[in-house]
Amino acid sequence: MDRIFWVECPDCSGKFFCDYEMRYAGIDLHCPFCGDQFQVEQSPWIDDRG
Ligand SMILES: [Zn+2]
Repeated sequence: MDRIFWVECPDCSGKFFCDYEMRYAGIDLHCPFCGDQFQVEQSPWIDDRG
């Protein structure tokens, strides 16, 4: 299984996971709940354990 990390959407506070390749890729993440797009650094909560 590919490594993943969790982020929290800065707009709606929804938590979702992304492929770890996205972690430092510098590309926008796409929130599946509200459709917001944001950078990893803008997330108020990141869990990249494991
Ligand atoms: Zn959202």
